[in-house]
Amino acid sequence: MTYNNCTSKRTGDPLKTYFTQSEAVHAADYALNTYQNSMVPYTCEDCGHWHLCPESRHTPSQTCNSCKDRNGRPKQLYLSYKAAIKRANCIYDERGARLSVYECCHNYGWHLTKADAW
Ligand SMILES: [Zn+2]
Ligand SMILES: [Zn+2]
Repeated sequence: MTYNNCTSKRTGDPLKTYFTQSEAVHAADYALNTYQNSMVPYTCEDCGHWHLCPESRHTPSQTCNSCKDRNGRPKQLYLSYKAAIKRANCIYDERGARLSVYECCHNYGWHLTKADAW
């Protein structure tokens, strides 16, 4: 776990950041065993690393094999528009970052992108 620039908008604390999926999964297991908190690891669109999201707020996604983010990592692909919106709201809630949803032109699904157009 390391400090980085992503902070929780709800608490103002830096978000816990993990560099590998297994590190994040391990931390999620620990939270579940220790605090009975069900947490789901997700890759962050901002820093490209891993954070944990409470399971109740998690939206399922998979990796798009055609689109990459500006860090050169595969983008998360949301299988429904609703799931993408829910995820965007969750990110706005946590970090105050406004994201907009657009349809992937290669696969069936939706992506999130920084909403600098509005
Ligand atoms: Zn981040
Ligand atoms: Zn895509």
